[in-house]
Amino acid sequence: MMNEHNPISEKNLPKQWKLGFDIAKDARQRAYVPYSNFRVGFALHEKEGDTFIPGVNVENASYGATICAERAALLSAISSRGLLDYDYGVLVTDADPPAVPCAECLQVLMELCGPDFTLIICSMTEPRMVLTMADLLPYSFVSIPPAPEQAGNENSAE
Ligand SMILES: [Zn+2]
Repeated sequence: MMNEHNPISEKNLPKQWKLGFDIAKDARQRAYVPYSNFRVGFALHEKEGDTFIPGVNVENASYGATICAERAALLSAISSRGLLDYDYGVLVTDADPPAVPCAECLQVLMELCGPDFTLIICSMTEPRMVLTMADLLPYSFVSIPPAPEQAGNENSAE
């Protein structure tokens, strides 16, 4: 689907996105979703090695312990490779309109991957939206307080 506000072209799709799509779609089949039956597959791209790390949603009887595919992939990537340059991710669901990451995943992706991290949000057959973290979460929570002189400027009358 082409969207006026989010036209998808070769220009805003990374070269390898199709491989990521296939990996995310394949991973999606391994989602553990006995409660929602909503399968999510994600493929996180690591820039330097040009490789993908898959993730799926894993639900739990105590719903709060459920983890989303995006965070599963990112935590797996950091656990096995460390905090590297993860530059984009491909998200696959059968939702229509396509599902975007939840607020918790956006917060985690923003902190660990930065505002330029790109999400390629797909249906089961094609990319539907290409958005950066800055598009999706323009105001993220940051726990590091501003330097004193910056904090002081906010209250300065000069
Ligand atoms: Zn999430």
